[in-house]
Amino acid sequence: MDLMKKKAFITGITGQDGSYLTEFLLGKGYEVAGFVRSSSTGHLGNVEHLKNEINFFRGSLDDERSIEVAVSEFKPDEIYNLGAEAAPADSFKRGVYTSDINALGPLRLFEAALRLHRSGMKVKIYQASTSEMFGAPAQIPQNEKTPLLPNNPYGVAKLFAHHNARILREGTEKMFICCGILFNHESPRRGMQYVTRKVTVGVACIANRVKNQPLNEMGQSIITNDWKLEMGSLDPKRDWGYAKEYVQAMWLMLQQDKSDDYVIATGETHTIQELLEVAFSHVGLDWKKHIIVNPSFIRPLETGPLCGNPTKAAKVLGWKPKTKFKELIKMMVDSDLAKFS
Ligand code: NAP
Repeated sequence: MDLMKKKAFITGITGQDGSYLTEFLLGKGYEVAGFVRSSSTGHLGNVEHLKNEINFFRGSLDDERSIEVAVSEFKPDEIYNLGAEAAPADSFKRGVYTSDINALGPLRLFEAALRLHRSGMKVKIYQASTSEMFGAPAQIPQNEKTPLLPNNPYGVAKLFAHHNARILREGTEKMFICCGILFNHESPRRGMQYVTRKVTVGVACIANRVKNQPLNEMGQSIITNDWKLEMGSLDPKRDWGYAKEYVQAMWLMLQQDKSDDYVIATGETHTIQELLEVAFSHVGLDWKKHIIVNPSFIRPLETGPLCGNPTKAAKVLGWKPKTKFKELIKMMVDSDLAKFS
């Protein structure tokens, strides 16, 4: 082993962001380790193709002992806490579990890192905060100073972690913890429980007349018998960027002399209806003929309009988004047309 190699420990390594971050850090010469949860299928998700290049620790954010073992044995220079119950809409039905993973989970991890910090090791932490913490925002666009008043249990749990990170950074411990307030970011690796991917998979299944379809959040085929996709409200506004670019911002935050919080966003906002228009028209279909609004998919309390102001990230980190909304959605549709045929 190269003793000069930097070491990064990633929770949520199997997810969308974890996989792009792993590729990025391996490219920079890091030694990378990550959590995989116990399962009978040995699920490695989006990092299956990298399995021989990663050190895996069996563990979970609700298991304090597994966190302690991973952190004390691997002794990372950088920790990226990306693991989460990450679908805001689902959190209304799973509030207690979401809080355990997204609020107490980070605290367990911070405390394990604190023990390393107190022993004299310099450990830097990235905490995955979220634009969902803004709720119905007090200002548009939102920046690092916009009041935080989340409208779902996911956002509330993330806010708990966000403030605990701040306390460890500003208090006497002076830990190096950055929170990335990331706005929605998508890619062909996005899980199907998120609206962008649900739409791009749905479009591919309709365009290719796929019979053996994946299941929706209700456990039914994603497309109805008459080739329609069931959606919640089409009005919410989101700021959508490309995940592969967003993980670079996470790394840049940890390369600064001082830890801080940063909004990572495109500064553009689009409705769910615009998402449908772009995705369906890319395959020559009229979205109005293929969408049914199902009230059970509507959130009890909406978030948004979300539109981030990434000026601080541009100024301090030199980070700027490149991929535009239409380009991103078309990339996802093309990927799903090839996957579901
Ligand atoms: P994702 O694709 O859904 O991945 C979530 C990851 O968390 C998976 O690797 C999952 O592992 C892991 N996980 C779930 N429960 C866990 C537990 N109990 N212990 C440890 N790991 C657990 O999400 P993502 O899009 O990559 O998001 C990464 C992080 O950024 C999350 O914290 C999310 O809340 C936050 N975030 C995302 C966005 C966005 O738009 N993508 C925006 C703002 C913030 P399994 O594979 O075992 O399920």
